[in-house]
Amino acid sequence: MAEKYTIAVDGPVGAGKSTLARLVAKKLNIIYVDTGAMYRAVGLYAIRNGVELTDRTGIVALLPQIELDVKIVNNEQQVFLNGEDVTGLIRTPEISMAASVVSKIAEVRTKLVELQRKLADRVSVIMDGRDIGTVVLPNASTKIYLTASLDVRAKRRYNELITKGQDVTFEDVKADIMKRDDNDMNRDVSPLRPAEDSVNLDTSDMTLDEAVDAIIRIASEKA
Ligand code: C5P
Repeated sequence: MAEKYTIAVDGPVGAGKSTLARLVAKKLNIIYVDTGAMYRAVGLYAIRNGVELTDRTGIVALLPQIELDVKIVNNEQQVFLNGEDVTGLIRTPEISMAASVVSKIAEVRTKLVELQRKLADRVSVIMDGRDIGTVVLPNASTKIYLTASLDVRAKRRYNELITKGQDVTFEDVKADIMKRDDNDMNRDVSPLRPAEDSVNLDTSDMTLDEAVDAIIRIASEKA
């Protein structure tokens, strides 16, 4: 494999991006960068400041007050919002939807993409999101578009939330996923779509181990 390489992983909600990227990072001893967490932190800041998520001007006005930082501690990414570790606060359905809405705003994306590129500048990374292969790291050595059927994705996300003790129904989780995917695929700026040179990987019928191995195989073939 090349000395420094970047693996871009994009795809819809619940395709397994973060779980797989985390495992691949561990196996390859590289850094995992979760870009969704950054959009979530911006959503959290907007909610805390009482700005309507649909108030584009209000959200853009908040941006200069937001200082985001990510640190890798024990192989895990932690997100700091103006110095406060918010990693544990951004995994709720409310913040998922907030991230989905604020991520439509071009100014929000510009600010976060700059941070994401800096993170991948010097070290080997596997970065997941919606626009990594198309916009953030167009020269990534490997680009993977991860998918799975809607039902499989909804089931995975539902189980994840229930395990965390959150009070959700399967139908609500499925509706949320459809809404967020629709937002991501149909927005004007950096819509979710496979990069032209990406490899499609459908994980519906794969175990975690099989999917991890598939990603590592694709990455080594490309390097
Ligand atoms: O990946 P995750 O579900 O944590 O992302 C939260 C939201 O942030 C997504 O629903 C998507 O709207 C947005 N996002 C994005 N571009 C990225 C990563 C996430 O628009 N690179």
